[in-house]
Amino acid sequence: MEAWGVIIVGGGASGLTAAIEAAGQLGPGRVLLLERGPRVGKKLLATGNGRCNLSNRQAGLSHYHGRDPGFVLPALRRFPVKSTLDFFYKFGLVTVEEEDGKLYPRSLQASAVLDLLRMEAERLGVETRCDREVTEVRPQKGRFLVTAGEEAFAGQTVILAAGGAASSGLGGCELGYILLEKLGHRRTPLLPAIVQLKADTTHIRPLAGTKVDGVVTLPGKSPAQQAGEILFTDYGISGPPVMSLSSLVTRRLAAGPVTLFLDLAPDLQEERLLRLLSGRKQARPDKTLEVFLVGLFPKRVGQCALKAAGILPLSRTAGSLSPRELETLARQLKHWPVTITGTNGMKNAQVTAGGIETAGFDPETMESRLVPGLYGCGEVLDIDGDCGGYNLQWAWSSGRLAGSSAARLISPRQTGKEKRRNGA
Ligand SMILES: Cc1cc2nc3c(=O)[nH]c(=O)nc-3n(C[C@H](O)[C@H](O)[C@H](O)COP(=O)(O)OP(=O)(O)OC[C@H]3O[C@@H](n4cnc5c(N)ncnc54)[C@H](O)[C@@H]3O)c2cc1C
Repeated sequence: MEAWGVIIVGGGASGLTAAIEAAGQLGPGRVLLLERGPRVGKKLLATGNGRCNLSNRQAGLSHYHGRDPGFVLPALRRFPVKSTLDFFYKFGLVTVEEEDGKLYPRSLQASAVLDLLRMEAERLGVETRCDREVTEVRPQKGRFLVTAGEEAFAGQTVILAAGGAASSGLGGCELGYILLEKLGHRRTPLLPAIVQLKADTTHIRPLAGTKVDGVVTLPGKSPAQQAGEILFTDYGISGPPVMSLSSLVTRRLAAGPVTLFLDLAPDLQEERLLRLLSGRKQARPDKTLEVFLVGLFPKRVGQCALKAAGILPLSRTAGSLSPRELETLARQLKHWPVTITGTNGMKNAQVTAGGIETAGFDPETMESRLVPGLYGCGEVLDIDGDCGGYNLQWAWSSGRLAGSSAARLISPRQTGKEKRRNGA
C-alpha cells in the first residue's frame, strides 16, 4: 500500500492551499491530494462570476458566522489577508482591490487563480489524483487508512478539505460531513447561505427581471443593511445586497417568514421624495397614475408601488392624489416590505451555513480534538462568511493552517510532545 505523510481529501480552495503549505515544508513526494471530480478546483472556477473574489481587506470576526465564529481568529491571525496576497504573489498572482475591500486577481479570471495553485502544487511535488472519491478514513495503529474506490492509501496525517453541500452542480456534497461524522465528529444543521430568496410575490410579480439600485434592510435589534442592485425575479428577489443578507435571513426563516424592507430611492430622503411627488402632481395633474412615476422610477416599479400602497385604480389622475396618499406612496418606495418565505435551496446556494462542529477542532492547528493527526479546514466546518471574498479567505487561511500543522506534526523538527503523539 502507498504510504504518504499527508493525505488531503478534496482538491478545492482549502485542499490546494493545505497541499502547497504541507509540501512546502515536507518536500516532494510526501503529500497526496485526492479529488472526487475529474479535475481539481471546479467550484473555484465559478467564484465571483468567474472573476474570483478571492479575499477581502476587511476580513475579520464580524464577517463570519456559525456557532462559534471566534474559531476563525487563530487561522486569520496566522494567515491574514496580507499573508494570503503574499502567498499568491510568490507564485505569480497580482491582485486588485475593488469596492468594499473586495480583492480579485488582476486578470479578473478565476482560472488564473486555479492555474497558479495547480502549478505551485505540482512544482512542490504534490501528487494529485482525480476521480478518487474517498469513502473511508480509518485511524489504525498511529496512521490512517484512506479508501477511495478499490484503492487504499496509508497516511501519517489526513486533512479533510471536502467542502460543503452548497451548489451540487459545482461539486458540493455531504461526503465530508459523513466522513467526519464516522470519526465521531458532530454536525450542526445545514442551511443554504448566499442564496436567492423566495418571497410572497403578490405585489412584485410584474417586476420579474427588473433591476433597481436600492438598499435592503433586515430589521432587528441591530438592523442589517446592504446596498446595491436589487433584482426582482419570478420567485422573489436576488442581486448582491439580497445575497449578502441571505445568510442572516436563512437562519431566521426557521422561526417563520421574515420581512425585508427595500428602499428603492436611497439617494432621496423620504421628505425630499414626498416633495418631488407633490411637485409632479401639481405640474401635471392630468397624468394618469399609470405613468405618474415615469422618469423617476422604472415604469413597472411605479405602477407596482401604487398598487402595493393600495392607491387605485391606475386610471385615476395625479390631481386626485390626496396628501395622505402621497405620503403612503413615498413610504412604500422607501420602505417596501417584502415577505421572505424561503430560499432557492442548497443547490443554488454559494455557501453552506452550518457544518461540522468547530468545538471538535483546535483552532490553533485545525487538528481534531477526537482523532489526533486528523485535520479539518474550509467549508466543511461550521463556519460561513459574508458575501465579498470572506469564504475563500477562510478556505485559504484554514487550509494553510491545517497544511502547516500536519506537516509540522510529522516533520523532523517536531516537538517531543508531537513526536510522542505521532508514535515516532
Ligand atoms: C457559484 C459560487 C460562487 C462563489 N463565489 C465566491 C467568491 O467570489 N468569493 C468567495 O469568497 N467565495 C465564493 N464562493 C464560496 C467558495 O467557493 C467556497 O466557500 C470555497 O470554495 C470553499 O472551499 P473548500 O475547499 O472548503 O471547498 P471546495 O472548494 O468546495 O472544495 C472541496 C472539494 O472536495 C471534493 N470532495 C468532496 N468530497 C470528497 C471526497 N469524499 N473525496 C474526494 N474529494 C472530495 C469536492 O469535489 C471539491 O473539489 C462561491 C461559491 C459558489 C458555489
